[in-house]
Amino acid sequence: MKSALITGGARGIGFATAQGLMADGWQVAILDRDSDALAEALAELPGAIGLDVDVSIPNDVLRAVAEVAEAFGRLDGLVNNAGVADFGPIRDTTYDRWQRVMRTNLDGPFLMTQAFTDLLAADGGGAVVNITSISGLRASTLRVAYGTSKAALAQLTLQQAAELGELGIRVNAVAPGPVATKLAMAVHSPEIIAAYHDALPLNRYGKEEEIAAAITFLLSDKASFITGQILAADGGFEAVGIGLP
Ligand code: NAD
Repeated sequence: MKSALITGGARGIGFATAQGLMADGWQVAILDRDSDALAEALAELPGAIGLDVDVSIPNDVLRAVAEVAEAFGRLDGLVNNAGVADFGPIRDTTYDRWQRVMRTNLDGPFLMTQAFTDLLAADGGGAVVNITSISGLRASTLRVAYGTSKAALAQLTLQQAAELGELGIRVNAVAPGPVATKLAMAVHSPEIIAAYHDALPLNRYGKEEEIAAAITFLLSDKASFITGQILAADGGFEAVGIGLP
């Protein structure tokens, strides 16, 4: 049975990914720093294991490696999905706010993939999917920290793909368009919501399971010759080249 670890798996896109992988027969571990949400999620994912971990804390990440090694002995898939959003003008973005975003969105995937490389390389290799964003593909006002973190994560994806391929580890990213999760609804104003509906070719927000489907594909053997790609699951945002609202 294949095994996967999903960061930020207690809700939103990460939780839907856990559900999708379990439906495909994978053994799943979800990791989250919100212990209440983690307990609620585990109640809905019978058989999954939970790791109460913050991906931006190096010692926490090492503890996660030890727990996954003990539970699974190896790892076939790692989804670096945990993320935080903070929208605001450059002049209001304090260094604390900037660092809070970078620590989870960029340092987390760096630390996690580095720490899990040996487990992913065991028994012939594995796959990593980093969750970036359309906010990392285009510049806009309000997204100085969030957009920069996701653009850097896209480059980290390419660096990891270039270097880890020889170990049999594929590394790709999924760049979601808007999905009405807790993270998005905390920063999407009514104007942003209306603008997305109006401008996206599909004229709607995506669903968590639609992003999860792209992630599970990239983890699966169907994607065995795909590495170093950023797959936009975005309702057509990139195709028509609209500006971010
Ligand atoms: P969400 O807030 O519903 O879920 C994110 C989860 O990550 C939460 O359970 C949270 O507790 C956890 N988390 C946050 N920081 C963490 C940390 N340091 N360590 C461990 N866990 C942590 O958000 P979501 O919308 O499902 O977002 C998932 C990913 O998708 C994020 O990386 C986000 O940037 C990206 N994304 C979301 C959208 C969208 O519109 N929702 C669009 C593009 C990209």
